[in-house]
Amino acid sequence: MSSSEQHYAFETLAIHAGQEADPQTGAVVTPIYQVSTYKQDGVGGLRGGYEYSRSANPTRTALEQNLAALDGGRRGLAFASGLAAEDCLLRTVTKPGDHIVIPNDAYGGTFRLFAKVLSRWGVEWSVANTHDPESVRAAIRPTTKVVWVETPSNPLLGITDVATVAQIAREAGALLVVDNTFASPYLQQPLALGADVIVYSTTKYMGGHSDVVGGALVTGNTELGEELAYHQNAMGAVAGPFDSWLVMRGIKTLGVRMDRHSENAARVAEFLVGHPKVAEVLYPGLPSHKGHDIAVKQMKSFGGMVSFRHKGGEEAAVQVCDRARLFTLGESLGGVESLIEHPGRMTHASAAGSALEVPADLIRLSVGIESVDDLLTDLGEALK
Ligand code: PLP
Repeated sequence: MSSSEQHYAFETLAIHAGQEADPQTGAVVTPIYQVSTYKQDGVGGLRGGYEYSRSANPTRTALEQNLAALDGGRRGLAFASGLAAEDCLLRTVTKPGDHIVIPNDAYGGTFRLFAKVLSRWGVEWSVANTHDPESVRAAIRPTTKVVWVETPSNPLLGITDVATVAQIAREAGALLVVDNTFASPYLQQPLALGADVIVYSTTKYMGGHSDVVGGALVTGNTELGEELAYHQNAMGAVAGPFDSWLVMRGIKTLGVRMDRHSENAARVAEFLVGHPKVAEVLYPGLPSHKGHDIAVKQMKSFGGMVSFRHKGGEEAAVQVCDRARLFTLGESLGGVESLIEHPGRMTHASAAGSALEVPADLIRLSVGIESVDDLLTDLGEALK
């Protein structure tokens, strides 16, 4: 993106940032450069700066520039999955003996990465209730290098006050990492609130169509961006050209999709609040939600994820998942189609027995952009 484009609004950047018309043909959409290597004009004579597609590929570069622009960052990096992005980040910024504060409410795979993989390399972690800044402060050790938060969190939709926790991390000399997957950059801008690095599973709202697995990191720190890019190449879990193209295509409609996801989810949450079989509805847009006031402060609207607890317990919750028709039973989230799942037995099974274990009566919905009336009818039937 040229510096003259910096003033454009989010919706304009989503479509144009990093998307120069193809210099050879004028194609208005960045082509899929499905290529591994590049002809050199004499040894080391790189024509367009490209050498080998693990190090850089023009389709991935377009996505990475776009990602950086959307979050107001200096560097965006695209990976083969959200977990690949997390792994690259953590192995770049920590070494054996360092400590990480992790949230008590986060994606189960993120927890598994800390608990089962990084811990084997001598990186220590402990859990804080990141929704309470004082709990984060209490968890900080002299060796703490990273404070990790997910907001809204998966699957309990908890809200962390990013600006306050950023201040605590800064005072401790630690980096604040925000997993912004549920909100997307359209609804929440963590760098502007003081975060150092943003993590995305682009598999979710960024891709938006349940047809690609990808991940991303965005930082406003040029030096850290360089280090991350070095490790991205050294470790190699990069986004391929076609996957990069799919994520870019998804991002172009991110704003309109998120508006509709948020509208539909708000209606679904209201419906569930009034339902006799529902014990509790977890949606940050509800004034009764513990984090509502902070969500109002730091989010544009409240997103498409809604979780709720069934009064009938685990078996009743599983039955609702089995009975839904329009809400497809499946893992993942953030696509145009609505999904339903039982986190305890599905996405968060790896957190069983830990501080991140989720309630057994919990159901998680990824509310899509179908007709909301059809969605409410389906839920009503499934809850009968
Ligand atoms: N972060 C969050 C909040 C997620 O929900 C997920 C996946 O569900 C991930 C990270 C990991 O992303 P991926 O599945 O693309 O590796």
